[in-house]
Amino acid sequence: MFNAIRTYPAPVSLAQARSYDSDDVYTELRKVFFDKCYICETNDPHDINVEHFFAHEGNADLKYDWDNLYFACSRCNNIKSNAYNEIIDCCDPEYDAFRSIKLLPPMTPRGKSVMVCPTNQNPRTIKTSELLAKVFNSDHTVNKRISSEFLRDKVFKQYNILLDQMDTYFDPVATSDDKNKSIERMRILIQKKMPYSAFIRWCILEDNILGPLLEEEMD
Ligand SMILES: [Zn+2]
Repeated sequence: MFNAIRTYPAPVSLAQARSYDSDDVYTELRKVFFDKCYICETNDPHDINVEHFFAHEGNADLKYDWDNLYFACSRCNNIKSNAYNEIIDCCDPEYDAFRSIKLLPPMTPRGKSVMVCPTNQNPRTIKTSELLAKVFNSDHTVNKRISSEFLRDKVFKQYNILLDQMDTYFDPVATSDDKNKSIERMRILIQKKMPYSAFIRWCILEDNILGPLLEEEMD
């Protein structure tokens, strides 16, 4: 997960309390969340939803409240439904959305699971970890199993881009120019706007040399 900074004032269409997913809401959410689903971190998702952090269940205050609207793919929105109201609020700076849950990619393109590991015992961290495990590792229906395989494959592809850069960095004949270039590319991969940035960041933190070099840039 990643922290996002919500912009204000709220999109004007919300004041009419008629629609919570007008163009201005989409446009603003897209900016706030770097065009990524805030749960699975897939960027430019094909099927985006304006998701209610607290399920509104007919409550108009929650339904049109800008602070309650998030940018999620329809799959994550569907899995979260009204079962995960009390998760980490990535727009609240009180939570470190990235460091609260360690995420490591699948070992292979068809790996059966990713690692989801809470780093503290805050109930919201635990609940978010449960949600992420369901999103990435779910196999409780055929549809969810296939779509989570597809998702893990995308995480693995991004991880592979990182591995290429690591390979260059640690190549015994790498020049200082090669090393600088690969570090620059890793700097791009850890940016919050990049897909699956939490996975990539945790892989780097797992490395004795690269972790200390790049950790401070993981906002
Ligand atoms: Zn998603």
